[in-house]
Amino acid sequence: PDHAARFREQTPESRSFHDYAASVTPLGVESNVRSFDPYPFYTERAEGSYIYDVDGNEYLDFLLALGPIILGHNHPDVVEAVQEMAETLDVTATPSPISIQFMEKVVEMTPSIETVRMANSGTEATMHALRVARSYTGKEKIAKPEGGYAGAHDYALQSVYADEEALGPADEPNTVPYGTGIPEAVRDTVVPFPFNDKEATEKILRKHADDMAAVIIEPVMFSCGCLKPRDGYHEFLRELTEELGIVLIWDEVMTGFRLGPQSAQGRLDIMPDMTTFAKAAGGGYQVAGFGGKEEIMAEIIPPGKNEGEKWNTSAFHGGTYNGHPIAAAAGLATLEVLDSGGVYEHIDRLGDRLFTGLQEAADDVGIPVNVQHIGSMGQVYMTDHDIHRYRDTWHANEDQFADWWLEAAADGVLFGNPMQGERFFTTLTHTEEEIDDAIEVAEDAFRAVNH
Ligand code: PLP
Repeated sequence: PDHAARFREQTPESRSFHDYAASVTPLGVESNVRSFDPYPFYTERAEGSYIYDVDGNEYLDFLLALGPIILGHNHPDVVEAVQEMAETLDVTATPSPISIQFMEKVVEMTPSIETVRMANSGTEATMHALRVARSYTGKEKIAKPEGGYAGAHDYALQSVYADEEALGPADEPNTVPYGTGIPEAVRDTVVPFPFNDKEATEKILRKHADDMAAVIIEPVMFSCGCLKPRDGYHEFLRELTEELGIVLIWDEVMTGFRLGPQSAQGRLDIMPDMTTFAKAAGGGYQVAGFGGKEEIMAEIIPPGKNEGEKWNTSAFHGGTYNGHPIAAAAGLATLEVLDSGGVYEHIDRLGDRLFTGLQEAADDVGIPVNVQHIGSMGQVYMTDHDIHRYRDTWHANEDQFADWWLEAAADGVLFGNPMQGERFFTTLTHTEEEIDDAIEVAEDAFRAVNH
């Protein structure tokens, strides 16, 4: 059966818009992951739990911009903060109270962040954090879990996604650049290791310890769906990196301010040396940052600044739009709502209801599915294989997932985007009724693709 048929029927405007868009920009999209078969729909408006496309279709949104929309679209406090700032202060390249207030709030809420700097995207945050860690340790290599995504810069685009042949042995994987255009010299600075495999991780980190500046890792690996840490993996990694003098960077771009007011580090009670965040911290605006121990962040400060020493004696951090007043105002308004109580209780309860309901629906249909989730975030894997390492996700059926997603989208529900390696979310404006309706749509879609 053609699982895209109903989607195509309902989206004629998007289809012709896509032809036009593709003449303007490669693939007709602004970011590669927005492109899918048969073509993406184009979004015109968002409100609360819903987004609306150019054909006037309404979608119950669990994609939620891949993470930022934690209070629902266009939360009134965020809109008000943005409108007020838009009339007051644009960008000046001078520091402003609003971004300092935002950063103070980040420090107040995040247990391991003593001091922080702002950036405009998760990509920038991880890029700067890695430079600071290299500067602090005087070492060059970084380690990351295979399958992990830590942003779109060359140092992070290694072993993000590759097949078995390229990645090689599971206990000592090869470094595989994600796509073309990445210098080989950069590849040689990145060492991948298998998440949730303590023995292999230890062997690899010990082998490279003398050259290893940092480990950058997501507390829960949402960049390959939803891989939860097992058997004290993070406790082990915390101890090992401390022993080996390696900076432990938790990439909380996805989990930060999403898994709780104290982010994943509060929820799992583990203190990294540095943290990156973005997405939920901005409630829909371009907020990101990196922070950590004061001693490490001091690498940004030239040691003899007061004696006129220049920037080239320290780790450089800059950016015209860092701490943009509108983004900072949106971020502060978001964090204030998040910190005022009730939000996490709501999104986690609905997350439990949604992801448990999806597993039950699949089981009722009799289709092999493994749903993984923590709190308000999770993913549906089209396999009944155990999922706790990146290579387990290879058992999941990508095409069946895309078909299931399209069937649900045609019924007005967006379970993330049509890629097995993504994940989806609940948000403050979702209701129990919406969750139950979505589970019914999902069940019909499971039935439609169960062949
Ligand atoms: N790190 C993680 C864990 C992410 O999931 C992402 C984006 O999805 C990034 C970094 C990069 O963030 P951005 O897309 O804002 O550049």
